[in-house]
Amino acid sequence: MNAPLAPPPLLHARKQAILAALRGLLPPHCLLSEQEDTRPYECDGLTAYRQLPLAVALPETEAQLMALLKACSALRVPIVPRGAGTGLSGGAMPIADGIVISTAKMSRILALDPLARTARVQPGVRNLAISEAAAAHALYYAPDPSSQIACTIAGNVAENSGGVHCLKYGLTLHNVMRVRMVSMDGEIIELGGAALDAPGLDLLAVFIGSEGMLGVVTEVTVRLIPKPPLARVIMASFDDVITGGDAVAEVIAAGIIPAGLEMMDRTSVRMVEPFVKAGYDTNAAAILLCESDGMPEEVEEEIERMSEVLLRAGASAIAVSGSEAERMRFWSGRKNAFPAAGRLSPDYYCMDGTIPRKRLAEVLQGIAAMEQTYGLRCANVFHAGDGNLHPLIMFDANQPGEFDRAERFGEAILALCVEVGGTITGEHGVGIEKIDAMCGQFTVNEVAAFIGVKRAFDGAFLLNPNKAIPTLDRCAAYGKRQARGGVFKFVKQVGA
Ligand SMILES: Cc1cc2nc3c(=O)[nH]c(=O)nc-3n(C[C@H](O)[C@H](O)[C@H](O)COP(=O)(O)OP(=O)(O)OC[C@H]3O[C@@H](n4cnc5c(N)ncnc54)[C@H](O)[C@@H]3O)c2cc1C
Repeated sequence: MNAPLAPPPLLHARKQAILAALRGLLPPHCLLSEQEDTRPYECDGLTAYRQLPLAVALPETEAQLMALLKACSALRVPIVPRGAGTGLSGGAMPIADGIVISTAKMSRILALDPLARTARVQPGVRNLAISEAAAAHALYYAPDPSSQIACTIAGNVAENSGGVHCLKYGLTLHNVMRVRMVSMDGEIIELGGAALDAPGLDLLAVFIGSEGMLGVVTEVTVRLIPKPPLARVIMASFDDVITGGDAVAEVIAAGIIPAGLEMMDRTSVRMVEPFVKAGYDTNAAAILLCESDGMPEEVEEEIERMSEVLLRAGASAIAVSGSEAERMRFWSGRKNAFPAAGRLSPDYYCMDGTIPRKRLAEVLQGIAAMEQTYGLRCANVFHAGDGNLHPLIMFDANQPGEFDRAERFGEAILALCVEVGGTITGEHGVGIEKIDAMCGQFTVNEVAAFIGVKRAFDGAFLLNPNKAIPTLDRCAAYGKRQARGGVFKFVKQVGA
């Protein structure tokens, strides 16, 4: 093995100065600077991109975090906030001369009020831990990303995360009432409040989904809702994906808002079934999972209505969960789709884009054609109800050129999403992964407005820089590249 290269002297001296300043602010076990200690933080869930940080700070208190940010601001050290590192777009990827601030040690539930139906939690509390704590009061926190066993509430806030139940209950944005955060200058800012509406500009909505670029979250107050007494799920099989896609539109058009409406194509079903044994129909070209929850009478009536719509829309078979165990089994396949991809292929690239529901069938056909163009297989799972696609592009990074092709395949999917009136991300954020695609989605004026908001919170651009919002220069270069490649049509023109 090669010996690690010695850092250039200037960087080394600067590193020592920064570490000396930070050592005075944190207990020794809260600051990591040796390579073997910082290695676990070199990437998030987008493992294709890695970078060791200058150091990792793990503050235990809000006061430590404030002092840390003040010092970094004075020394002009960039910061990357980090939760559990499950993000899939590189949002928590370190910067070589920056500090990763992990909030993993701030993981206490501070208050749970069953009467107000709220929980006030520290940033490092796991999503699922909130529902587990609320279960004693028959309450739960609705947004349920498939990573909920590991991902943190601050990560959810930063990404405006969704999950299978967000069609009915809303995204993180709709379930968070208040965020307390520390600005890059080390000052406390509180956004939102205890009531449905808060006076002043709605900065909470601006902050949620801002990918760690506006402040570091130290507390989140979430809304809890009563656990429905009953939930049942229909598993519907379709002989072709187009009919399945159209059935999604039919369910919504019938005025039904299912608690969850998820679709998996044949490749996904066959990938998941041997792994999870969820009881899926492996002969189907696509399956839909369609959930109803509420009072028993409501559920029975809705299940009946949804079954009728699905059969009318062309379902070849339907099965309805007869027990809570069976419902969980049906969902287990969908929730394990990403890990199951690892059994089929050494590497996979999970895309995230959103399209208008009525264009689902057409986009699926487009993706199938791209499999031929790029010579790679793609399994499709989606939050079909809200039009959020998760194509899983399978490749082998050890085969020359395959990663490149996977990336180009992904870019083509995003371009198609924009072309049909959708967006380049549904819930995984922009991070580093989709920063160029932002230039295809937004006009120069729109990107300039995003930069203006960033500047208002972080004038020195030290908080998670070069993520989520492209510079105008970058967009100009992207536009030129696209024009040469002949696909400039995806770049919206100013004023378009
Ligand atoms: C198997 C798998 C399934 C997934 N399923 C879903 C899904 O169904 N729905 C979904 O929406 N996502 C899903 N994700 C993506 C990911 O889990 C979410 O984006 C999650 O919210 C990230 O949380 P985290 O704690 O891991 O954050 P990280 O990955 O650590 O960070 C994510 C972003 O949050 C910022 N951040 C973290 N902590 C703070 C803080 N204290 N203050 C300010 N900014 C902060 C980071 O800078 C970064 O930009 C999945 C990921 C995996 C690996």
